[in-house]
Amino acid sequence: MLAAGIAIVARVEGQSRPLVAPAAAAIYQRLLPQISRIKLFDHHAHPAFPDDPDVDIAPPPPGASPLRLRAENPETSAAARVLFGFPFTDMKGAHGKWLVDRKAALRRQQPGAAYFNGILDKLGIETSMANRVAMADYLDPARFKWVFFVDCFMFPFDNTGLMSNPDRDVYMPLQTSLLKRYAQQLGLASPLPATFGEYLSFLTRTLEENKRRGGVAVKFEASYFRSLSFGDPTGPTVEPIYEKYRSGGMPTADEYTRFQDFIFRHLIIAAAELKLPVHIHTSVGGGDYFDLRGVNVLNLEHVVRDPRHRETTFVLIHGGYPYDREAILLASMKNVYLDSSATELMLYPTEFKNVLRRWLEWFPEKVTFGTDAFPYNEALGVEEVYWMGVHTSRTALAAALAEMIAAREISEAQALTMARGYLHDNAAALYK
Ligand SMILES: [Zn+2]
Repeated sequence: MLAAGIAIVARVEGQSRPLVAPAAAAIYQRLLPQISRIKLFDHHAHPAFPDDPDVDIAPPPPGASPLRLRAENPETSAAARVLFGFPFTDMKGAHGKWLVDRKAALRRQQPGAAYFNGILDKLGIETSMANRVAMADYLDPARFKWVFFVDCFMFPFDNTGLMSNPDRDVYMPLQTSLLKRYAQQLGLASPLPATFGEYLSFLTRTLEENKRRGGVAVKFEASYFRSLSFGDPTGPTVEPIYEKYRSGGMPTADEYTRFQDFIFRHLIIAAAELKLPVHIHTSVGGGDYFDLRGVNVLNLEHVVRDPRHRETTFVLIHGGYPYDREAILLASMKNVYLDSSATELMLYPTEFKNVLRRWLEWFPEKVTFGTDAFPYNEALGVEEVYWMGVHTSRTALAAALAEMIAAREISEAQALTMARGYLHDNAAALYK
């Protein structure tokens, strides 16, 4: 066992690692190889080749990157070394081109779905969510499950007034075009039919159609566009707003917010009726204008604790970071789950271990693994990000559990049950 642990550590030289309390070091070495054999269920990722326009509806414009996500981080070279035999320690000059050429050659050797299935196999990922505008023919539907975006239904009117900063200048037109795409999918002449009732029917039918096309969950990235503090207006007070602006004109801020609030509630009820879990982006986001106060998960407290939404399954994507303590307390609700994706990329493994340990000490059966793999560019592709996410999560998890065992909080058998739950079983059970 110890030898296997050492082999794993040696193979990933150049990668950051969690610092483990000395009293837990031997337990860590025992746990890591066992944890590394558990098949993974990646609850949140954006698998795609870098040239695929359907990967995301709101790719954030470049803002300030945290230290770990900067281009010069040597960890990406370590990932490329393990996955593709990358022989260099950085991506400078011709090194990046070597990697791009190597991936292109592999893609030719493994056409269709074989390339990405091969990547999942190398990483030990059994199933990965694919949060995308639409699915791609190069993703095997048996391994990749579609999570589709629904924010666009909240923003059907003239969005000029919402384009108040350079990030939203990019995001809002994408909402308009996705709404049009959904209308075309159903053969509707316009995304804004004559009556409010028909608009709500368009929304429901799109959810049904996307489920028929393989969709397993809906995704809100609303926090890129507005606060997650949702009011609770009634339909009759919102209908006149639709009638007033469906043919043009810009709603006032108050009118538009009330409209969005109603549609949000309507969407999460419609999703519950179709047994589609609701994924909500709940962490700090990219770009320079992200509203940190607005994304605080406590804004969602009255939604997830609302008896009318008890049938909706909520997945707090990215686990609320930096409000991760608040997030795990919301997971006391039977229908609320956390996904750790992106947190394990933004944080180095030592701090991610601390986050995981706090979560596992509260509601271990509600915490799920994810990577947030995304194709940043040709060299730093989905493949390397998947690997960084997997490696960070396995090592941080082993460290968190080893410390809990050393502190006599749990037994080693309990630790392995928690590991299987976090890495696979807790999320997989939501899509049975
Ligand atoms: Zn994401």
